[in-house]
Amino acid sequence: MSILIKDVSKTFGNYRALDNVSLEVPDGNLVALLGPSGSGKTTLLRIIAGLEVADSGTVLQQDEDITNYSARDRKVGFVFQHYALFRHMTVAQNVGYGLRVRKTPKPQIRERVDELMKLIRLEGLQDRYPSQLSGGQRQRVALARALAAQPEVLLLDEPFGALDAKVRQELRKWLRKLHEEIHVTSLFVTHDQEEAFELADRVVVMNQARIEQIGTPDEIYENPATPFVYSFLGNVNLFHGRIRRGRLRLGETELFVPEHVAVKDAPAVAYVRPHEVKVREQAGEGANIAATIQRVNSAGPLVQLELTRNDDGSPLTAQLSKEESTQLSLEPGVQVYVELKNVRVFPEDKSNQGGGHEIAPDVSDAGDAPPLCAVKDLAAAS
Ligand code: ATP
Repeated sequence: MSILIKDVSKTFGNYRALDNVSLEVPDGNLVALLGPSGSGKTTLLRIIAGLEVADSGTVLQQDEDITNYSARDRKVGFVFQHYALFRHMTVAQNVGYGLRVRKTPKPQIRERVDELMKLIRLEGLQDRYPSQLSGGQRQRVALARALAAQPEVLLLDEPFGALDAKVRQELRKWLRKLHEEIHVTSLFVTHDQEEAFELADRVVVMNQARIEQIGTPDEIYENPATPFVYSFLGNVNLFHGRIRRGRLRLGETELFVPEHVAVKDAPAVAYVRPHEVKVREQAGEGANIAATIQRVNSAGPLVQLELTRNDDGSPLTAQLSKEESTQLSLEPGVQVYVELKNVRVFPEDKSNQGGGHEIAPDVSDAGDAPPLCAVKDLAAAS
């Protein structure tokens, strides 16, 4: 394990920036710390760098406890959002700075700088000053400078945050390719989920000083672990209802959710991604939520439908492929039936879950319940 963080906490005055955070970063991984502003990402990165001291907990690098090491004694490179290049030094002097500080012999510095200039594809610009470079070029120089002393870990704090969207996108691709070439263990902070998902092998989602979920981009997107992760990633339908003994009532509809069979009675939130909302013209098995089309947006590769449920008027969004959409007549005002696939349900009142108050009954206790997440139209059943 390249970096191992164990139970790290940090407060600034009364503000808790990190609350018992633990994280493993395997060798060679490119890891994104993703979360809203103030969630503690930068604080965690700075503690790993040795630029901030944790109140409690430990940081290990290659099994060595580095918790009390200064930044200089850690084998880490750091790239900040705002370049932080020395304005009065040329590009070559900036890149070689860390090596000069370490009193590396001049010929070796020259060789390493040449090597890095090739790596960042800026050969020929050694003698320019930072002011004579574009924002993207400056950030590549900052990266070369961080890599000069061959760190074991590279830490990047919103490295593309100050750049415009197009340059950001180019640099993301470039950084991913660079990482494939040099494989240095890297952690980067971002609040941009697209950036995290495109670049990282693993994404760490942070919220209010804690880690909410760790996983591959695919795992996080397909299987968000908490309501916060669902909401933060966006592009999701959210329904409020009540859960009773493994049955979630949403308006006139009931879903069977056996994973919550121990919940006696609690408010709950259900999340469904728009591409998991299946639209049919006729009611059928599992496709029984009646809804009315409000708007059809067919620009781009997918068709997006804005619908309202007929039972309680709440909005929902469905996404269809162009091919699926041609099988249906999709126009505002048309009534359709929707089936919700892969519904994730979170009881809102955790104290009402099994264990403490009740002995959780066996799933078979749910009696004649329909299969997982099947939708039952109570109006039709009664
Ligand atoms: P952002 O994306 O806005 O940089 P973040 O997730 O990186 O946010 P942190 O910078 O780690 O969050 O900050 C977490 C909290 O700790 C914030 O509320 C911040 O104001 C506070 N904080 C961070 N550094 C200090 C400091 N040196 N002194 C006081 N409070 C601080």
